[in-house]
Amino acid sequence: MDNFVFSQPVKIYFGQGRFAALSDILEELNVERCVLVCDPFFASEAQRIMAENPAVRAVFSDVEPNPQLKGIAQVTELTRTHKAQAVIGVGGGSTMDTAKFAAAIALGDSDALEYYQGKPFPRERIMMIAVPTTAGTGSEVTQVSVVSHGAEKKTINNPVFMPKVAIVDPEMSKSVPQKVTMCTGLDALAHALEGFWSVNHQPICDVLATEAVRLVLANLERAWRDGSDMEARGNMAYAALLAGMAFAQPKTAASHACSYPLSADYHLPHGEACAFTLDSIVMINADERLEGLCHAVGLKDCQELAERIRALKKLGGLKSRLSELENVDLKQLVHDCAVHPLMNNNPVKMDEAVLTAMFTALQ
Ligand code: NAD
Repeated sequence: MDNFVFSQPVKIYFGQGRFAALSDILEELNVERCVLVCDPFFASEAQRIMAENPAVRAVFSDVEPNPQLKGIAQVTELTRTHKAQAVIGVGGGSTMDTAKFAAAIALGDSDALEYYQGKPFPRERIMMIAVPTTAGTGSEVTQVSVVSHGAEKKTINNPVFMPKVAIVDPEMSKSVPQKVTMCTGLDALAHALEGFWSVNHQPICDVLATEAVRLVLANLERAWRDGSDMEARGNMAYAALLAGMAFAQPKTAASHACSYPLSADYHLPHGEACAFTLDSIVMINADERLEGLCHAVGLKDCQELAERIRALKKLGGLKSRLSELENVDLKQLVHDCAVHPLMNNNPVKMDEAVLTAMFTALQ
């Protein structure tokens, strides 16, 4: 057994209807003033929560997918004005990452852009409470915030972003549309597989990853077919949570490296961009360890795992060939994937020649 370090500092409340206990959780944390952040889908629900709960002093409901610094700056302003002790992020990864960033800089004296550009984060921060409403990113248990400034999208990895508490209530994901269910579910699968095959993999994360893969394969199609199937939604919420912990320390690898140019230049949602290459990378990374994971989740081999991913993409109508993207510059795409730092975590070296062969087969 290798030496390893495992840390998971977030207190997790999991279960159907858990979000209804928000007031009790705020009381337990001694939070008397907080700001609630969400995207427009949850705007009226957020107003209802604020009306019922005097600790919620303000709502910001304008988070956009691939959140911009502009929104983070507005949330930070609200936290400073209301002297908030916590920021609650109710939404998908975009919302949670916005709330994380604002909570991290609320007690600082600079604006979001300066921290984004590398100014050290303040030593003190306010609490961040993560309430995922998609079953995908695992942001509720990671120290990552993915934020954009104009066309640039940056993943910032810093312990200041670790939520204090996560409230994972599958009920919150009941309304997720079919396409988002498939994209986010495949994002969770990519987290589990990449945490497992990352060169930084470690035993506890391997166990979490294996169970997450098993749960996604058993439940994603069900949740996609019938969003009101709460058993499938619950299993997917749990799978995304496990997958978040599975990659939080090992970090992700090649499929996430490729997802950045695919979402920045070809506008694929994050999960769809990760899934675009995931089945190909399963075959590139196929080895005895990965074969072991396949057997543990009831699959014959890596080939069957790749086929299952392909079938899910097809079912969800996700793009999976370069011919479905507009104005593809293959050379640039290959270059951008090859130089992405996450590529260094992949167990098989994927240089420009390997990437060119992979994308050529996906034309
Ligand atoms: P998202 O937060 O961008 O939301 C996508 C869409 O789903 C939005 O239109 C939103 O309104 C809608 N939506 C969310 N929950 C809903 C619900 N319950 N009912 C109806 N509609 C709902 O999507 P996401 O995939 O959860 O997050 C993607 C973002 O997270 C990307 O920016 C990605 O880079 C980032 N990310 C972060 C981490 C991390 O560890 N911090 C990990 C992976 C990805």
